[in-house]
Amino acid sequence: MSARNLFLLPGDGIGPEAMGEVRKVIEHMNTHEAAGFTLDEGLVGGSAYDAHGEGISDADMAKAMAADAVLFGAVGGPKWDKVPYEVRPEAGLLRLRKDMELFANLRPAICYPALANSSSLKQDVIEGLDILIVRELTGGVYFGEPKEITDLGNGQKRAVDTQVYETYEIERIAAVAFDLARTRDNRVCSMEKRNVMKSGLFWNEVVTATHARDYQDVELSHMLADAGGMQLVRWPKQFDVIVTDNLFGDMLSDVAAMLTGSLGMLPSASLGAPDPATGKRKALYEPVHGSAPDIAGTGAANPIAMIASFAMCLRYSFEMIDEADRLEAAIAKVLDEGYRTGDIMPSDGQAGLKAVGTVEMGDAVLAAYAG
Ligand code: NAD
Repeated sequence: MSARNLFLLPGDGIGPEAMGEVRKVIEHMNTHEAAGFTLDEGLVGGSAYDAHGEGISDADMAKAMAADAVLFGAVGGPKWDKVPYEVRPEAGLLRLRKDMELFANLRPAICYPALANSSSLKQDVIEGLDILIVRELTGGVYFGEPKEITDLGNGQKRAVDTQVYETYEIERIAAVAFDLARTRDNRVCSMEKRNVMKSGLFWNEVVTATHARDYQDVELSHMLADAGGMQLVRWPKQFDVIVTDNLFGDMLSDVAAMLTGSLGMLPSASLGAPDPATGKRKALYEPVHGSAPDIAGTGAANPIAMIASFAMCLRYSFEMIDEADRLEAAIAKVLDEGYRTGDIMPSDGQAGLKAVGTVEMGDAVLAAYAG
């Protein structure tokens, strides 16, 4: 078996603390399951700025480009609030996304049975939820030109952002959604605003054509993005995979994420196009949360989002489906057993729950995985 090269970028704040728990899982897999992961580690965000004066160095960027997958912790914090804009911590993450051409952002929203009563929605609406939002990440209104504020000279100004998509950008994100649906419940719902936006009309056409050409076995539906937001809150279990553009995806994935509770539980993956020679996609896996400066260094961070991001890495970068299933089942088991970091501990407390910190939670997940 060839080596599986992982490049770790723990970053700032709770990033390194959460990454430490993933390291333990990787070391266990290498020692007991001959998984063959090779690890290298670099700096990103504020820690890279302190060392090199930029959000990520060229040398670490080259390592990220060469790795089979990148595991990313979190960046930022008050210490770097005043550094120049182009070298701020987030610039490291944006460069990774841009240079690796990570156009597909995958955000699962899964409701673990043990946490079904901690959502702001009713338990029966949320119990058993397992949906996946596929967001286009490198195009659309966040990047389209012109993008400017013009002084009109009469005391008024005009601001313009441009929503722009080309055929290939929609085809490739739709293909990712259809491919992933085939590994799940085989249903895709595409969301746009075809009633008021030309780009929405075009998005709808291209998704429909891609489906007709290559994916007729997958069930495709369309929904206006505003109605989609409403339906996500009304009855989220009606969806399997949702595919949408950068702007709507930004909002809809946050809505879907919060259906399930704490930020400390949410993993994500960002994928690039398959390499024509090897078929492998560039990929970066990261928790949705930030560096949580308010709890950094206290040992209180929930490492589950980071561990679940590694489970996505096993599934999507290495096709280690059995290991990914087992790791996700281990997370569900420790939650069932009552282990809770502060962010998922009900404020009124509950008999039978065990308050734990980062390391104990990581140890419990590893013990459940090792079985
Ligand atoms: P945040 O996600 O860091 O924290 C929001 C709240 O959630 C905090 O109260 C925090 O304690 C809690 N929280 C987050 N993750 C947790 C975990 N794993 N366990 C327990 N509690 C957790 O968002 P923020 O406070 O808005 O931002 C803090 C810093 O992180 C800022 O510098 C911001 O720019 C940066 N940030 C980075 C990323 C990233 O690296 N991808 C994402 C968002 C924010």
